[in-house]
Amino acid sequence: MVFENAQKQLEKAKKHIELAQETEETLKNPKEAFIFSIPVRMDDGSLKVFMGHRVRFNDARGPTKGGIRYHPRVNIDEVKALAFWMAIKCAVINIPYGGGKGGITVDPRQLSKTELERLSRGWMRAACRIVGPDRDIPAPDVYTNAQVMAWMMDEYSVLAGKYSPAVITGKPLSLGGSLGRSYATAQGGYYCTREAAKKNEYGKTVAIQGFGNAGSHMARLLSADGYKVIAVSDSKGGAYLEEGFDFDKLMEVKGREKRVDAFPGVKKLDHKEILELDCDILVLAALENQVTEENAERIKAKMIVELANGPTTPEADDILHKKGVFIIPDILANAGGVCVSYFEWVQNKYGFYWKEDEVNARLEEKMVKEFETTFSIHREKEIDMRTAAYVLALGRIDEATKDKALY
Ligand code: GLU
Repeated sequence: MVFENAQKQLEKAKKHIELAQETEETLKNPKEAFIFSIPVRMDDGSLKVFMGHRVRFNDARGPTKGGIRYHPRVNIDEVKALAFWMAIKCAVINIPYGGGKGGITVDPRQLSKTELERLSRGWMRAACRIVGPDRDIPAPDVYTNAQVMAWMMDEYSVLAGKYSPAVITGKPLSLGGSLGRSYATAQGGYYCTREAAKKNEYGKTVAIQGFGNAGSHMARLLSADGYKVIAVSDSKGGAYLEEGFDFDKLMEVKGREKRVDAFPGVKKLDHKEILELDCDILVLAALENQVTEENAERIKAKMIVELANGPTTPEADDILHKKGVFIIPDILANAGGVCVSYFEWVQNKYGFYWKEDEVNARLEEKMVKEFETTFSIHREKEIDMRTAAYVLALGRIDEATKDKALY
């Protein structure tokens, strides 16, 4: 149960911060949770119904914000947890949003492009009652991309009767997207890794679980900074190469063969083996619940960077903390994505677009600042980085909740 894990993290953090009763109460359940059918006419003429979801968890600090995931295992419990984490994440990075999340229970790789378009437009047609540029702003997540955002933005604009780019972020540049958004999650994670390495010497060998948008850009950024990426994995399997991967060659193989383990000369690994490799830094860029009480003891990395949401269970957290593994938690490490989403939304509202280096400079400033604040809470209160990030976020949510004085 992913939502249960999220609530356990919250309970742990609550021991280190005093919250108003109304804050505690409003963080127990989502503000709104919406499940709906999306009928889609398939290319063969048949009709198929998919289940769509959207949760707005908490909007104390602003409109709810968070991605839409297409995955066969999407369910309301997971979407609730992901929406909750978005509320915490937006508060950690201090952008004026609450948290939301959405999804469709589907394997998008089984659909044609036209079916995918009808499905995406169908999601927005149903969800337009709950999303909106000042209410709830979606974005990409697992197996959704700029093209999906473009269809959804267009559908919303048709329904609203006006061009509405600020309803969704992660769009193509031609439709109001922001420079730097496509790799922002990894860019933010890279800044955190760099800052962590200034505090302590961790070594330079890296294993990356997950080679989607976040994982592949992280491989690029770390390789360019002199780190040695010795292992990578995707949904088909993992690959180990002692001398380290040449990033361009790896991208070429992945593009051609659709799997990283087709890289010549590698030792093949399975999804779980990559986690237990002897390396300095482990980047988790796949899905939830990867490091659990079952395998945590066998983790050899000295630092974990969580680009995925919820990859480490609370039980594993305790084990890793005792082992002295430094974790840069998801709610900080992957906040670069939503941070540049916020920049995109600002640019849409303003109708004026920034240069790429301006976007990255603003992102860097935010990531470094909130990494530092989290790190000092971690040191002062002698708590792990995740709990420290929660303490930081909860303080901000609490302040807004109290200032608003709900009813
Ligand atoms: N799906 C991403 C996340 O989990 C990005 C969300 C956004 O940009 O709104 O943080």
